[in-house]
Amino acid sequence: MTRPTPTAFLQVALDTPLRRVFDYLPPAGMDAARIEPGMRVLVPLGRRRAVGFVAGIARASEVPAARIRHALGLLDPEPLWDARSFELLRWAADYYQHPLGEVLSAAVPAALRRGAPAREPLLAWQLSARGLAESATPRQRLGPRQVALLARLGAGPLPAAEAGPARFGDALRSLRERGWLESIELPEAPPAAGQASTRPPPLTPAQREACEAIGGSLGAFTAWLLHGVTGSGKTEVYLDVIERVLAAGRGALVLVPEIALTPQLVGRFRRRLPVPVVTLHSSMTDAERLESWRAARSGAAPVVIGTRSAVFTPLPAPGVIIVDEEHDPSYKQQDGFRYSARDLAVARAARHGIPVVLGSATPSLETLANADEGRYRKLVLPERAGAAGKPRVGVVDLRHHAARDGLAQPVIAALERHLGAGGQVLVYLNRRGFAPTLFCSGCGWIAPCPACDARMTVHMARARLVCHHCGADAPLPFGCPKCGSEVSAVGQGTERVEQALAELFPQAPLVRVDRDVIRRRGDIERALEEVASGRARILLGTQMLTKGHDYPDVTLVAVLNADQGLFGADFRASERLAQQIVQVAGRAGRGERPGEVLIQSAHPENPLLTSLIQEGYEGFARRALEERRAAGWPPYSRLALLRADAPDRAAVYAFLHEAAAAAPAAQGLRLLGPAPAAMERRAGRYRAQLLVEAAARPALKQFLDAWLARVEQLRHPRPLRWSVDVDPIEVD
Ligand code: ADP
Ligand code: ZN
Ligand code: ZN
Repeated sequence: MTRPTPTAFLQVALDTPLRRVFDYLPPAGMDAARIEPGMRVLVPLGRRRAVGFVAGIARASEVPAARIRHALGLLDPEPLWDARSFELLRWAADYYQHPLGEVLSAAVPAALRRGAPAREPLLAWQLSARGLAESATPRQRLGPRQVALLARLGAGPLPAAEAGPARFGDALRSLRERGWLESIELPEAPPAAGQASTRPPPLTPAQREACEAIGGSLGAFTAWLLHGVTGSGKTEVYLDVIERVLAAGRGALVLVPEIALTPQLVGRFRRRLPVPVVTLHSSMTDAERLESWRAARSGAAPVVIGTRSAVFTPLPAPGVIIVDEEHDPSYKQQDGFRYSARDLAVARAARHGIPVVLGSATPSLETLANADEGRYRKLVLPERAGAAGKPRVGVVDLRHHAARDGLAQPVIAALERHLGAGGQVLVYLNRRGFAPTLFCSGCGWIAPCPACDARMTVHMARARLVCHHCGADAPLPFGCPKCGSEVSAVGQGTERVEQALAELFPQAPLVRVDRDVIRRRGDIERALEEVASGRARILLGTQMLTKGHDYPDVTLVAVLNADQGLFGADFRASERLAQQIVQVAGRAGRGERPGEVLIQSAHPENPLLTSLIQEGYEGFARRALEERRAAGWPPYSRLALLRADAPDRAAVYAFLHEAAAAAPAAQGLRLLGPAPAAMERRAGRYRAQLLVEAAARPALKQFLDAWLARVEQLRHPRPLRWSVDVDPIEVD
């Protein structure tokens, strides 16, 4: 008696830029009832096989029956994510207007995209039916190791890892050959208990208040802003909250900016928490990432520390999500699936019904506005946990003081004073290389990048010209290629300032930190160790220095090129500058000694700079938010960009004009452009964009849904690429 089973179609999301799902039949002979959304399937795709994610199961398909194919196999016995996390991923695909298949692929370690099992198979041996029967009355005599092995197997399955020749010689092999053994898969190992080796310091009243407030919110969604100056003990608050979460039998997800994920930070968590802590970040191998992901998903490691994409890590029982340095731009993915891990952390916490803590010494203006408007609750740690007070901040007016190799006289004098008093100094210059420009005084030629609207940067040590935008490089010319006159390097990068400092302070060992010298795993730790041990006296570097690391013996911070950020093309340039200055200044004078901060600027009367210096980051943020409100920029509006680029300039504008013409009528919304990107030509491609500015999120979403469906239908020449960026953090 057979009941007709209703036909089921698997809607499979594949890692392709096509914004649709692909229909398949379940694997031949498999009951569709076994298959659920969030499981992976192996499917035929043209002539290849691909790993896809089941997005849904439907009763009907628009694909003609003759063309629809069977999936080849089911890869997971259960969905990769719990229902809420999977729902978040669908929501994210929808919100960021990105194909679900690429979103799901971005959310898992590469090994899983290639079909690796989501659980670590834990193999073990046990007696087979034949083994059971025959071993009771063996026909041959058994050796002592075979006897020992049989005795062991009588006590239960033997994990394969413990069945090595050291214990049982070749008994395992001989019994297997007789067909007495069979291998089985054990359920995953329970979490191993770690041991905490350090105890927390007695908390300050502000820390205690923050811990009580967040601790009291466990079990329900609340978004907390923890605004605490650098060194105020935010990390201690995170640890305290995580201890409470663990005591309640739940886990924690901690997000940190890419560069901050150093062994020091991870070590601090491991020493304090009595459970396994795993990490997830980009310099891990695929195998390491898979291992961490599995440990997180199974609950073997209840604490996960990771960078951006770790926001998607499945946890069996999340209790809190923490986003450290929430203002950091590295939380926004800048290509492909352009999501904000900070914003998704908040969305995820809401879905799980748990608190999320956004910590920063320099909160983003968006987050401050959310706190002002009552959507987030704000906690403040106003003081440093250690002894030192606030650093003194001064401006060096570059119009009155000539700079030698980027260093004005008062800055040189201050460096001398602090070094002389035994302090360490930190020199901050957010530009690597020797000089940003190679200039001919004979004819005015400036070395251009052949592929970008940009100048080549001089790298003296390598004797190359390098484009920092596309990576093009060329030998450093001896003379002007146009007129043969002498050429000179104009302006300063870290490489040049290093030379200047070495000449000025030959006795003071210097450590430079930028992407040209910090290239491999371990480089940054080695550099920071030079500083921590006191061997290095001068620390020079780019924004790599501003993230996550502490330099307790630094007493002077000199910011060499503040003006770069004051006049950036992007409306967020001044916010970034203020964050960098405050972050780098926060590294000074951690110990007993008071710190000093000097900022070189040719525009010391700039109102944003003045408010930053006189009223600190809060004052700056108030003023900057007023400016944003007046100009109608985020957080007082919502933006999306439609970017296009192609080797042919006309094709880019033709496409964008057509796209603009395809825009549906919409209220409360403006479509601006096409406008060239700040750097119109980059890596040989012309770049332009349309900007959508909406008063509110729902209007933007509704518009994008309708508009992009039309934009997708537009024809364009093959080399043209276009993409959508919802909530872009760079709009130039
Ligand atoms: P943040 O994360 O805000 O930069 P940390 O938590 O790293 O601050 O604390 C900065 C330093 O102060 C660390 O060395 C930390 O061990 C120490 N610290 C934090 N809280 C206290 C406290 N309550 N008492 C003493 N030292 C503390
Ligand atoms: Zn010339
Ligand atoms: Zn270039």
